[in-house]
Amino acid sequence: MDDCIFCKIVAGEIPAKKLYEDDDVIAFWDISPQAPVHFLVVPKKHIAGPSSVTEKDEQLIGKLIRVGGELARENNVEDGYRIIFNNGAKAGQVVFHVHMHILGGKDKPWPI
Ligand code: AMP
Ligand code: ZN
Repeated sequence: MDDCIFCKIVAGEIPAKKLYEDDDVIAFWDISPQAPVHFLVVPKKHIAGPSSVTEKDEQLIGKLIRVGGELARENNVEDGYRIIFNNGAKAGQVVFHVHMHILGGKDKPWPI
């Protein structure tokens, strides 16, 4: 989609520090990390956010969790990491292409 920063990363038009890529998903380090380990797992398909996920995307969204878990293990945070999907500007979503944050490497850093 035009003017979507994550579609541009998927297309290789904007650089990103990639951890993983296959036909369906891409993972890269967050440019503004909020934890010692903070990366994003993103479907290549443009979906605006979690509330735009439909039944046909269920397998794809499940894959984000599976790939994220493998990358958490590779980056030594499998014993404690947090997954966040922001939905909507009120919740802090700033990139309207669905993405899964993985944050780890801190001890009990989160309120819930
Ligand atoms: P959200 O607030 O859930 O929409 O998260 C968007 C995330 O994307 C933020 O944590 C940003 O730091 C991150 N981000 C934005 N642009 C880039 C980029 N070019 N490369 C890597 N991460 C980015
Ligand atoms: Zn997009």
